[in-house]
Amino acid sequence: MIRLIEDVLKRVSTTEIQVISSHTRVTRLNCGIYLFEPLNKTCQRDVIISSGIHGNEAAPIELCERLINLIFEESIVLNQRLLLIVGNPLALIRGERQVDYNLNRLFYGVDNKVENHDSGRFGYEGERVEQVKKAVAAFFTQVDNNERPRYHLDLHCSIRRSHYPFFAIHPYCQDSRVDHDWLYFIEQAGVQATIFSNEATNTFSFFTHTYHHCQSMTVELGHAAPLGRNNLVDLSIVLQQLINLISKTTLLMPATWREYSASQMHFFTVAKTIIKNSAQFEFLFKDDVKNFTIFHKGCSVYKDQQYLECVKDKPVYIVFPNKNVQIGQRAGLLLNRLQ
Ligand SMILES: [Zn+2]
Repeated sequence: MIRLIEDVLKRVSTTEIQVISSHTRVTRLNCGIYLFEPLNKTCQRDVIISSGIHGNEAAPIELCERLINLIFEESIVLNQRLLLIVGNPLALIRGERQVDYNLNRLFYGVDNKVENHDSGRFGYEGERVEQVKKAVAAFFTQVDNNERPRYHLDLHCSIRRSHYPFFAIHPYCQDSRVDHDWLYFIEQAGVQATIFSNEATNTFSFFTHTYHHCQSMTVELGHAAPLGRNNLVDLSIVLQQLINLISKTTLLMPATWREYSASQMHFFTVAKTIIKNSAQFEFLFKDDVKNFTIFHKGCSVYKDQQYLECVKDKPVYIVFPNKNVQIGQRAGLLLNRLQ
C-alpha cells in the first residue's frame, strides 16, 4: 500500500513496484509520480490526474490519496491506465504555492526545454518540470494503442472565493477542437463554469493537450485549506467522476450537442490577460472580491503606471486577480461571457 501524502512529504523517489491481487500493478516512478496499470485487460483510455502543481493547494492531493486508497483497498477496480502526479512536493512540504517559480508557467513545448530558457532562473521547479514531462512522455510512449482517447485533469484549488466554486479552464487549441463529451464529463463532476483560453500558454493542461493530444482541463475545486483540514465530502461528486474515469469501460456521454447545450454550464472566453508591467500595478477593487465578479461599462479595473483599464462596452468578469506576481507575469484574466 502506498500512503501518497506521507510518501511525498518524505520525498521518497526510489522506483518501487507493487502488485495488488495480481490485477493491478503500481509503480512509483519518482517522487509523487505513480503509474497504475490494470494487468491482462484491454483499456479504453489513458488517464493523467495531477494535483499539487501549487504546493498550497492540498485538497486535490487529499482527493487523489482517497482515490488510490480505494484502488489499494480493492473497493474500486482499475480498468484504465493511470498516471498520477503530485506536481510540487517541496512546495507542499513548505506549505507554499511555489519554491522558486510558478510550475504551471514552465510547461514549454516538447523540444523547447527549460535549459534553453536560462535554467538557473527556475530553480527547483525548473528541475521538477522536466521530471514530470519525462514521466508523461514515457506514459504515452508505452501506450499499446495510440488510437484510444487520452484525458488529463489538472486539479487545483484557490484561496480566493468564487461565484462558481468549481470551474475549469480549457486550454487553447488552434483548430478549436473542443470536445463536448469532455465538457459534459466535467459538468458531471460539479464544474459550473468553463473558461476557454484564447492563447498558447505554458500550463500543464495546454502542454498535454497540444503535445500529447489529450482532452485536458485545468480544474479549480473550491476553497483551499491547509493539508489535513480539507472537507473531502464537498469533493465527493469529483471523486465519483475520477472513479468513473479510471474504472468504467464506457463513459456516459450525451448523444448530441443539442442535448448537451441544454446544460447548466456557464461559458466564458478570455477577453484580456492582465500583465503586471510595473511595481505601481494595482487593482481598483477590494482584495477579497470573488472570482467571476462582474464589472460593467465605465468601471475601472486596474491601473499600471499611466495606464488605466476601464470597461468600454461588454461587461467583463475577473478571475485569478493577484497583484503580488513578479513584474512581467500574469496578474489576472478578464473574461467575456459566451451567450
Ligand atoms: Zn493552482
